[in-house]
Amino acid sequence: MAAVSMLLRRAALGGCALLIIAAAVKFGSGMQTSTEVLPPAPPWQGQPAAQPSRPAPGVAVVQNDAPSPVPPAGDDISWLRSRALTLPVQGIGASQLSDTYSQARAAGAPHEAIDIMAARGTPVVAAEDGLVAKLFLSKPGGITLYQFDPSNQYAYYYAHLDRYADGIVEGARLHKGQLIGYVGSTGNASPDAPHLHFAIFRLGPERQWWRGTPLNPYLVWRDPGPDRP
Ligand SMILES: [Zn+2]
Repeated sequence: MAAVSMLLRRAALGGCALLIIAAAVKFGSGMQTSTEVLPPAPPWQGQPAAQPSRPAPGVAVVQNDAPSPVPPAGDDISWLRSRALTLPVQGIGASQLSDTYSQARAAGAPHEAIDIMAARGTPVVAAEDGLVAKLFLSKPGGITLYQFDPSNQYAYYYAHLDRYADGIVEGARLHKGQLIGYVGSTGNASPDAPHLHFAIFRLGPERQWWRGTPLNPYLVWRDPGPDRP
């Protein structure tokens, strides 16, 4: 009887300890959720919901097979300048760019891109070598293309396209200057002002085509100008 009593007491103590552990785990997980640091919101709207730990169902994350070379952390603009990117709208030179990166756009969200104005149908070319990571139709961006750079560290985003060029498919290998599509006004662009919305962002470790840290493309081709807020 004493042994049973001892067992019961142990069980009670054990149960109590389990409750304490359960409470601690619950409290701990609650703390983790509240302090979890998520990457900044993507610089556009209407993308699939972000998946912090894995790609959304059905989303294939395309990557270069042998990414190289890998840029140093911390000085993205210098690295991108060293890559001598091609301006992605044919016939447009750096002197024609304006810095609209920090302008507010729909719902007060920062633009985090540049708009390169050009006539509808003007060829859009790949800024660098790399892979087509995603062809995506979005409400704000219209017909869009996401490209990964050869190091898998950066993504280039081309939006408001009128259409893609022939042969442009997800996973296609691009070379710098290759025709990828045509300037248009699909999505929320004004039909009277066709342009290429061009963004660059540094990818996170999971290389998700829809999210990253935005960088100002203007600074890749030009120094900060007086028109920059
Ligand atoms: Zn834009």
